[in-house]
Amino acid sequence: MLNLILFGPPGAGKGTQSEKIIAKYKLIHLSTGDLLRSEIQKGSELGLKAKTLMDQGILVPDEVVIGMIENKLKEHKGSPGFIFDGFPRTVAQSEALDALLKSYDERISVMIALVVDDNELLTRLLNRGKTSGRPDDQNEALISKRIHEYNSKTMPVAEYYRLQDKYVAINGIGDIEEIFDAISKAIDAHT
Ligand code: ADP
Repeated sequence: MLNLILFGPPGAGKGTQSEKIIAKYKLIHLSTGDLLRSEIQKGSELGLKAKTLMDQGILVPDEVVIGMIENKLKEHKGSPGFIFDGFPRTVAQSEALDALLKSYDERISVMIALVVDDNELLTRLLNRGKTSGRPDDQNEALISKRIHEYNSKTMPVAEYYRLQDKYVAINGIGDIEEIFDAISKAIDAHT
């Protein structure tokens, strides 16, 4: 199995690149952001609780996203692999993911980190906000809050996988195809 974590701050291009990775490597896409937004759409109790936090740019509790990922891994047992997008976002989530995969005799193959500076992220997210309809893309204060959450709670996740020799950093600024080429090379080198 190929189990890949696509890592990077909000606006780094994870959505764009994950579509291309899925098409090439036939992986199941697990985006906790998408899963949470689908719960909000359904109007579920979980969705209602998550929405309050997401609209403030704050991470939802670890056990909520871990539970969602656990269900999805079960649902797609026997697939050629997974791409984790927007997860894990804390070290506790990384530990839970490792334990879950271990229970299937599986492991993370590689973490691909898209590197983009904060100014470029802000520009991209404000632009995305014009068309995405996402409440958390609408104003600068909220976007800065999300980038701050990323820098304080999520950055340590990179170190967690670096210590396992699974971390690969890729420049996320430039031509989409060139970035994808660099990602493909990194994946091929780790499988
Ligand atoms: P982005 O990375 O562009 O901010 P996402 O769609 O990945 O967008 O996430 C949107 C929001 O959903 C986050 O700001 C956070 O509130 C919540 N969220 C998504 N994934 C997680 C996670 N793994 N842990 C905690 N909160 C999460």
